[in-house]
Amino acid sequence: MSTSTVSTSLPVASLGTPRIGPRRELKFALESFWSGASDENALIETGVGLRAANWARQKKLGVSVIPSNDFSFYDQVLDTSVMVGAIPDIYGWNGGPVPLETYFAMARGAPDKAHEPACGHAHHGHETGHGVPALEMTKWFDTNYHYMVPELARDQKFMLASRKPIEEYEEAKALGYQTRPVLLGPVTFLKLAKSKDAGFNPLTLLDRLLPVYIEVLRELAYRGAEWVQIDEPCLVLDLDIVAQQALHYAYVEIARAVPQLKLMLATYFGSLGGNCETARALPVAGLHLDLVRAPEQIDGLADFPGDRVLSLGIIDGRNIWRADLGRILDRLEPVIAKLGNDRVQIAPSCSLLHVPIDLALETGLNPEVRSWLAFSVQKLEELATLGTALASGRSVVEASLTASDRAAAARKSSPRIHDARVAARVAGITEPMRFRASIFAERATVQRARFNLPPFPTTTIGSFPQTADIRNARAAHTRGALTDEAYKLYLQNQTARTVRWQENIGLDVLVHGEFERNDMVQYFGEQLAGFAFTTHGWVQSYGSRYVRPPILFGDVSRPKPMTVEWWQYAQSLTKKPVKAMLTGPVTILNWSFVRDDIPRSRACQQLALAIRDEVVDLEAAGAGMIQIDEAALREGLPLRKSEWRAYLEWAVDAFRLCSSGVRDETQIHTHMCYSEFNDIIGAIGAMDADVISIETSRSKMELLDAFRDYRYPNEIGPGVYDIHSPRVPEIGEMTSLLKLARERLADAQIWINPDCGLKTRKWEEVRPALANMVAAARELRASV
Ligand code: GLN
Ligand code: ZN
Repeated sequence: MSTSTVSTSLPVASLGTPRIGPRRELKFALESFWSGASDENALIETGVGLRAANWARQKKLGVSVIPSNDFSFYDQVLDTSVMVGAIPDIYGWNGGPVPLETYFAMARGAPDKAHEPACGHAHHGHETGHGVPALEMTKWFDTNYHYMVPELARDQKFMLASRKPIEEYEEAKALGYQTRPVLLGPVTFLKLAKSKDAGFNPLTLLDRLLPVYIEVLRELAYRGAEWVQIDEPCLVLDLDIVAQQALHYAYVEIARAVPQLKLMLATYFGSLGGNCETARALPVAGLHLDLVRAPEQIDGLADFPGDRVLSLGIIDGRNIWRADLGRILDRLEPVIAKLGNDRVQIAPSCSLLHVPIDLALETGLNPEVRSWLAFSVQKLEELATLGTALASGRSVVEASLTASDRAAAARKSSPRIHDARVAARVAGITEPMRFRASIFAERATVQRARFNLPPFPTTTIGSFPQTADIRNARAAHTRGALTDEAYKLYLQNQTARTVRWQENIGLDVLVHGEFERNDMVQYFGEQLAGFAFTTHGWVQSYGSRYVRPPILFGDVSRPKPMTVEWWQYAQSLTKKPVKAMLTGPVTILNWSFVRDDIPRSRACQQLALAIRDEVVDLEAAGAGMIQIDEAALREGLPLRKSEWRAYLEWAVDAFRLCSSGVRDETQIHTHMCYSEFNDIIGAIGAMDADVISIETSRSKMELLDAFRDYRYPNEIGPGVYDIHSPRVPEIGEMTSLLKLARERLADAQIWINPDCGLKTRKWEEVRPALANMVAAARELRASV
């Protein structure tokens, strides 16, 4: 910005920044600490270094409102539980400072301590086996970030147990940064919490919780904090009057107790909607709104009552696209002119936790694609440009604005994105393409005659253990240390062994094992036109687990078959049917960064056509059973109930489109590992898969009630083996689960399978578990 006059800027605020480090420093420090290779001090030092680097980076990029306490060793919701002393008894906390050991026990579970009986109940991705289980984990709103669910009791007591927000504020201050500490708000915290006490609503604990928040806020104010950011994303959900009143009550109490402190109340991931009046009435000094997800909220801003500071979330914190800065300015200038510069700050729509750190590291990306992207560093640069343009006029940052204009124009017209053949195919979708030739009852008759399976057929969900050996071979192949041929031969051996083994133990429907797949979405993305991949674009999924979501940037098509060869190879080894394995369009979409220039529904339709091509090719190659996994269909549900229907309509439509191009005698399977079907059972029915396998082992088959009540007619494989736990289930456990299944379904409907794929398990666990599963099937057959 070469200008002789000093340019001013509107305040640029950051709501939170990625904590993992540009080179995944946090992951490596955590794993080293957990394995015992390094000590607590080393981990703490890594944290100190990452925070210092984050503050410095944001400052350098022109951020004027810099956050603190957005860092976490594991999860900010867990940090909040620990801050308020909500530590369930089983973790053996004595009331003093919370040791890291306790913190990580809540995060990941811990080996058996003498006082604690074996539990055996493991949670999502957490394997505690025996010992103290981790807290439950679930998705943070509609992101792919997972938080540790606070567990509160009816007689819950709260106390200030961790001074992390205060310590990190002081730490920044010592380095010369006046920060705006971030806290998860008390109402959202309680709304996210669960209780083991039946019928107990954690929100009723608000009165007891507030004093701890007030203590923290007072101390922050005392130490010099002028502003605190307090996140209440529950304001974008459907809230009942009780929750709305709780919000009002909480912030009135806080304002009364800490009048000297200014609160920036942050909402994100959607619009305030019906909570708008509630939010407007809260006695806070500032309000942050997500104007990316809910741009229409701009319209109500100009007449926003009072002198509250408005934080305008205008740069997308959930996606990786470069912004069209000129367009943003067109929308903002009139609003800000009315509000006045001193009432406004600009910000990303939400914390930048959900995007990768720095595009500059992506030297391998296609340069054209790269020119359309912005990661967290680039997003803050964009905000700095906007801030200057809004305060000092566009001409001061003309070069940056022109570059943005050019990138936006180039993206609109690039042939890399827009493929006329794809457009023509989408336009040519006809009604019959969404329907199988015959109804399920007729298909089932021909399929039964074709496959001649025993009653209660046994199968698995697709993947077999991805051992270290396999990952090493893949890494060697990527490095170039293993030739294509050698790698293929290696994978063929793995596949052949697995096919033989399945045959030997007597499974009825086999799979090839998915050894060639790095990931169920990436594997397909890499073979489809329209996707790009990063090398450092990591985003935290939970704890030390990060993902690199594929970038869906353009029209999708399938240049050539993706899985046919592997299926053919596996089928050539056996006379038993080998089920082909695909990932469905909705799941590919939901686990990728998706283009923002067309509706998600349209991108999903393109994906559906590409998967349909694969389904048709598999059938032509002789595959009689084809499974299309939709593991992420449920998690794509919008935050607001009123938007569910539209989503489910296009999601189901995509599934039908990809699966309906086959003859009656071809059996379409799908798989979904959820724990709830009640509210989407109509959509599941409309998908009309011949067989669906689901996760039921931990819910004692109660989940099947929804299928029974709906009179779901197609076949179902309720999981009888909890693959999240290393425990090997006994034959008796599985037969009793099957007994429960038979109380809810007709025998002819029932398949027998594990809850999900076996890729995270060890062969020592899988071998006896599946042998027991086959034995359970045999017992059952003999008894009916
Ligand atoms: N076919 C996949 C597997 O077996 C399904 C994984 C999933 O549902 N998450 O691994
Ligand atoms: Zn699954």
